[in-house]
Amino acid sequence: MSQEKRIVIIGGVAAGATAAARAKRLDAGAKVTIIEGGRYVSFANCGLPYYVSRDIEKRGALILQTPEGFMARYGVEVLLETRATAIDRSAKTVSVTGPEGVSSVPYDALILAQGGSPFMPPIDGSGSDHVFRLWTIPDMDAVHKFISERAPKSALVVGGGFIGLEAAEAFVARKLETTIVELTPHVMPPADAEFGALIGRAFEAAGARVVTGRSVKAVRPGVATLDDGSELAADIVLVSAGVKPNVDLAKAAGLTIGVSGGLVVDEFMRTNDASIWAAGDMVEITNRVSGKPTRVPLAGPANRQGRIAATNALGGSMRYAGAAGTSVFKAMDMTFAMTGLSEKGAKALGLDAANATVHRYHHVSYYPGAEEMSLKIIYERGTGKLLGAQAFGKEGVDKRIDVAATALAGGMTIDDLAELDLAYAPPYGAANDPMNMAAFAAQNAESGYAPTVSAAEAWKRSGDGSASILDLRTNGERRKQPVAAAAHIPLDELDWRIEEIPAGPLLLLSRAGYESHIALRKLIGSGRKDVWNISGGALSLELVPGFTGESL
Ligand SMILES: Cc1cc2nc3c(=O)[nH]c(=O)nc-3n(C[C@H](O)[C@H](O)[C@H](O)COP(=O)(O)OP(=O)(O)OC[C@H]3O[C@@H](n4cnc5c(N)ncnc54)[C@H](O)[C@@H]3O)c2cc1C
Repeated sequence: MSQEKRIVIIGGVAAGATAAARAKRLDAGAKVTIIEGGRYVSFANCGLPYYVSRDIEKRGALILQTPEGFMARYGVEVLLETRATAIDRSAKTVSVTGPEGVSSVPYDALILAQGGSPFMPPIDGSGSDHVFRLWTIPDMDAVHKFISERAPKSALVVGGGFIGLEAAEAFVARKLETTIVELTPHVMPPADAEFGALIGRAFEAAGARVVTGRSVKAVRPGVATLDDGSELAADIVLVSAGVKPNVDLAKAAGLTIGVSGGLVVDEFMRTNDASIWAAGDMVEITNRVSGKPTRVPLAGPANRQGRIAATNALGGSMRYAGAAGTSVFKAMDMTFAMTGLSEKGAKALGLDAANATVHRYHHVSYYPGAEEMSLKIIYERGTGKLLGAQAFGKEGVDKRIDVAATALAGGMTIDDLAELDLAYAPPYGAANDPMNMAAFAAQNAESGYAPTVSAAEAWKRSGDGSASILDLRTNGERRKQPVAAAAHIPLDELDWRIEEIPAGPLLLLSRAGYESHIALRKLIGSGRKDVWNISGGALSLELVPGFTGESL
């Protein structure tokens, strides 16, 4: 590789900093320059909410590199508070404006790593000094300072995506009376509705208020007004309503912007200019599961793409496989994680998507500390190909979703998942891991051995009268979670009360879908054909939007 190759990188945080370090490791003789518009290079954006919450107390821990550090360790030049204002593709120069004034930086290879910017919805009064965003270190400092100095009592978070929810958690930790307002029907919009409900409940259990299906129209110090005219206490407001890719510079330079709004790159992270690569939140990539163009504004993909872009800018031919959108976040003392397509996402793409939900302990129930988790796998009917997974619980959630992410990368099916040989000892898991159990449930449904309906479908069918519910739970379980049913026969009494089983299409209900599976097999064995198990049982049923136990 040439000793003089000039690599210029615009943007110096996740993708840009990774690309710079990688470039110098690959070619020590290359001249690598980072142009960064902000005051910091390589900082930990993902850690910002945890500084506001005070989980992280050392501000300096979030600053991963300084210009001096970059130069000393890697020999990378960093120009801070310097904005790239134009790219001249034929002259191969970038115009910049910084503390030294206006200048032009020549490149042999250019890597764009400009990230995205938080989207500010039209809210009256959003310019007020009690309204914040949480995107950079200065944003974080401003929020922390406002809470420390002005002692607000109430907080409003506009937007219930993961950054908004992390900010809400920080406000709760700072003892603010916190409300989250989310425009869509549930918080964490990429998740399926039942998981959105679980996440919302975790926040409500911690004392936060969750308002869904509403937008914030106006804010003034102390009060916010929603689109239905209602008012909320809001001494501090944090807006987190989505991310838009920073592609203006690329667009002005004639680079191709894709259907998702991100900058188009090929599998080598190269744009339509052979000398310009791009990585991170600003690019359009391929969804690894659907094969469709998408944007995945997450740190893992940004770092890996930065590494690939640098490798290829120096003559390599490393390919990016696309992202499955694997993500995890802390919902108060619970965890939610997902990978691949959601059920609603898969259906929106026209896929024949089925799912299986299990509620299982994260390790065997007899070992102290077992915590119940909900795990849903989404797969393609017919082929059994895994499409995605979501999980929620106190423990073990990240492990199952990482297994699912690995399975997605390998193109695995529910049969492969059922056969996964996962680590087990009582403190860690179960001989049949929740992932195996979810796959068993999917196999049982797919093969016709155990006809199954989702909780949402059961709710619909019992509501429209096309089927009735047989409740197989114990009296104690029924008391804890009322579900009106056509008949109630605890599983252990089924054999001698068989005469009492209602005629007609029957949906079998147990606490989490296990006892009803046993009953289903008995009923099928006795010749019944019009019976289905409710996937995930009463625990899933109560998460169906609009569910009221009584009205069934
Ligand atoms: C509060 C918060 C929490 C998060 N938590 C997580 C998490 O837990 N897990 C996860 O996977 N992801 C998380 N993310 C997302 C993750 O941080 C981003 O996906 C990642 O930082 C994207 O990297 P990037 O390099 O593409 O962009 P960025 O990290 O945004 O960096 C882009 C940089 O480019 C600079 N720039 C833009 N235009 C110009 C210009 N014209 N001239 C000079 N410089 C320019 C910007 O100043 C910016 O510093 C979080 C993000 C935030 C804000």
